[in-house]
Amino acid sequence: MDANIKKRLITLSIVYWVLLLYITAALVWWFISLYNQNAAMTDLKMSELRAGDPSYTIKAAAIQDGKKRKTAQYIGEGSIFFLLIIVGAVFVFRATRRQLILAQQQKNFMMAITHELKTPIAVTRLNLETLQKRKLDESQQQRLIGITLQEAERLNDLCNNILLTAQLESGANRTMKEYLELGTLAGDCVQDFRRRFASRQITFEAAEETAVFGEQLLMQLLVNNLIENALKYSPKDKPVNVSVTRHNNQVLLQVADEGIGVVDSEKEKIFDKFYRIGNEKTRTSKGTGLGLYLCKKIMAGHDGHINVSDNHPTGSVFTATFKLAGNH
Ligand code: ADP
Repeated sequence: MDANIKKRLITLSIVYWVLLLYITAALVWWFISLYNQNAAMTDLKMSELRAGDPSYTIKAAAIQDGKKRKTAQYIGEGSIFFLLIIVGAVFVFRATRRQLILAQQQKNFMMAITHELKTPIAVTRLNLETLQKRKLDESQQQRLIGITLQEAERLNDLCNNILLTAQLESGANRTMKEYLELGTLAGDCVQDFRRRFASRQITFEAAEETAVFGEQLLMQLLVNNLIENALKYSPKDKPVNVSVTRHNNQVLLQVADEGIGVVDSEKEKIFDKFYRIGNEKTRTSKGTGLGLYLCKKIMAGHDGHINVSDNHPTGSVFTATFKLAGNH
């Protein structure tokens, strides 16, 4: 969390506590004054009773009864009122806090996205200009074309993530699910990554019969996002292991790396929209904080779930769990 949002959260907390204390004090004051008023009324009614009245004891008891009832009523009303205030205050505080954090993350996202869009465009332009102006030998040409293609694919992945987020959020994404062999699909994605990142070691294993009922494009996006992250957040000389296995009636897609790992306190948060560990100044890796959010959304849309655990000795393992699809 950056200093600016921390400051605003502290201000929010102070304002919140002052208001809550003020409202609570007003409520207590209201109770005391009503209680005193009730006592004064009871005293007045008692003083109006004549000592010689044959029904003195009955009347006095009725007055005392009335006093007790009123007190109970004030306590009841006051407690409900207090409870409502507390519930409302917690709700408002949490909503405002969430709003502030989201606003900050959105700002970070805009900064990240501008950077993410500009870099591939600049690299592509420079490479194409070089190819156009200079007579390069075949290997140099291939190298430049390779880099340009990689940047174009990164841009494509980024656009897919942004478009899909917008579609999923507006409910415009009409799913076209079909029976898919997850093992085959993940294997194709791994092949693609091996081509794009020839220097990286990506292992792959798949069990037989790993059918899931899902949408092909979304499944590819899920696998791609997980492999992309594993490559991005682990050293270049460490392998990334992708596997698709079966466990009872479930199909598990696992992407494991030996990188920096995810500390326990961040394990849930990294699936939030725009969430990225650390802050914009200290972060070195490129990203938008949309990848895992999309993975979580995709899994929810496929009756599955995704989680992250620690890899040993270092790194993390992302596991997406699907129901095995049988009837096809
Ligand atoms: P992005 O990678 O664009 O920042 P993601 O939603 O894909 O966004 O990931 C959110 C955050 O989770 C990342 O910023 C990173 O801090 C953390 N993360 C994701 N994958 C890994 C991984 N394999 N190892 C360590 N940290 C990871």
